[in-house]
Amino acid sequence: DLYPVRRALLSVSDKTGLIELGQALAARGVELISTGGTAGALRNAGLEVRDVSEVTGFPEMMDGRVKTLHPMVHGGLLALRDDASHVAAMDTHLIAPIDLLVVNLYPFEETVAKGADYETCIENIDIGGPAMIRAASKNHAFVNVVVDVADYDALLAELDANDGQTTYAFRQNLALTAYSRTAAYDAAVSAWMAATLEDEAPRRRAFAGTLAQTLRYGENPHQKAAFYVDGSARPGVATALQHQGKELSYNNINDTDAAFELVAEFSPEDTAACAIIKHANPCGVAKGATLLEAYKSAFDCDRTSAFGGIVALNKPLDAETAQEITGIFTEVVIAPGASDEAKEIFAKKKNLRLLTTDGLPDSRIGGKTFRQVSGGILVQDKDNGFIDLDDLKVVTKIAPTEDQMRDLLFAWKVAKHVKSNAIVYVRDQATVGVGAGQMSRVDSALIAAKKAERMAEALGLAKPLTIGSAVASDAFFPFADGLLEAAAAGATCVIQPGGSMRDDEVIAAADEAGLAMVFTGMRHFRH
Ligand code: 5GP
Repeated sequence: DLYPVRRALLSVSDKTGLIELGQALAARGVELISTGGTAGALRNAGLEVRDVSEVTGFPEMMDGRVKTLHPMVHGGLLALRDDASHVAAMDTHLIAPIDLLVVNLYPFEETVAKGADYETCIENIDIGGPAMIRAASKNHAFVNVVVDVADYDALLAELDANDGQTTYAFRQNLALTAYSRTAAYDAAVSAWMAATLEDEAPRRRAFAGTLAQTLRYGENPHQKAAFYVDGSARPGVATALQHQGKELSYNNINDTDAAFELVAEFSPEDTAACAIIKHANPCGVAKGATLLEAYKSAFDCDRTSAFGGIVALNKPLDAETAQEITGIFTEVVIAPGASDEAKEIFAKKKNLRLLTTDGLPDSRIGGKTFRQVSGGILVQDKDNGFIDLDDLKVVTKIAPTEDQMRDLLFAWKVAKHVKSNAIVYVRDQATVGVGAGQMSRVDSALIAAKKAERMAEALGLAKPLTIGSAVASDAFFPFADGLLEAAAAGATCVIQPGGSMRDDEVIAAADEAGLAMVFTGMRHFRH
């Protein structure tokens, strides 16, 4: 299954490492063929190269749209070297076999990420590159295809280990990488087109990602896992810079994402905010005059759960906050930047990972979310819904005060990021009880209140902080019981979507209990 590499076609947009590769191949006696820009770069470095246009007998034309799309190229890539009729066809048409294809594609994903206009994006859809990659991959019985600069060294090592030849297994692995690349490339084109035709998008777009990282394991150690990125340059866990600490795990990536998306609900122009996440649910979220204050208040919501949590900040990490965070074990901290002093403080905590980004995620931005079910994938618009003061309808005899309204809106934003059924108690723009993921809304209300009681004991307070709190429910109360549970915990005002068959009963119960209640008209299920 060893097969020699005698002739290579190189056509690359990203010319990183190209000269070194060209030199290494030439030194091993490999003949080089190239497209315009690639040939120019190789020639400048003093290498001997044949132009593709000489091979095809056609000039590169139509702004590069047609360069390598020719039987002289594709015959050389696709011919079965051990099939008499294929060999005869090569002889008749003077087609020379191509044993190695090195291609990286027009930077379509980067062009989209830069926000280029429609025409520019269209021109950056590579046609000849994917065609050659797919041809070479199909013929991996004989042909090597390299689509990633990171694989150049492995190719040379393989040639050296096998006296200028490669093994079948090696070529097969290259082919797999190559097909993954063309699939992800076309999926990126599809996603981009879908985004320009928003309404139609969810049903017809394709999706695929590029492998960014093989993870040690998945949610549990017996599950294999990997991280794929979609190539968008938005601030988030996929594009964050890791300064220190171990490699992120599957659960870390998932939780860090949840944390950063949540804290991004709070504009840094307004004030500092902090979210602490455990198992994708917040165990404390707070605003504060400073990050330090916000972190402390968030931490005080549920100190037990915050241990080993993920902390997200909406402003660059400062030294004081960094110092405070190191007070307990924290898995990951993510922030839109960090001061040098803060980095120094963290440097002493080897197990703590610090991630920084260029900004915050845009909580209002559109996009799609995916979930796998047996036999398929569910696709929906990202939940980027939001409400303003004007959207709220007061449904009780008494209306919330200004302060209550502020806390209700805060609680509502947090509830959006809590697994359903979600009940969130808030006081002074800090969560004081979070009930997540229960099968009944009453239980979520009870659990959150219970946690607040326990926290009050730990903090040495006379009463739980739910007394006098604002409470949010991510979906309507189907019966009055959940609302009454919240009232029993001491909530004095309520925010919920409304829309239940028994809204009248629920409103009557609120009036009876002396609560102020507003309806949002929007639900935030999160499963
Ligand atoms: P160069 O810089 O060598 O002029 O161009 C290299 C790029 O051209 C590579 O990214 C390669 O995938 C792409 N390419 C090669 N052949 C064709 C073709 O026939 N049509 C198009 N549109 N792109 C091609």
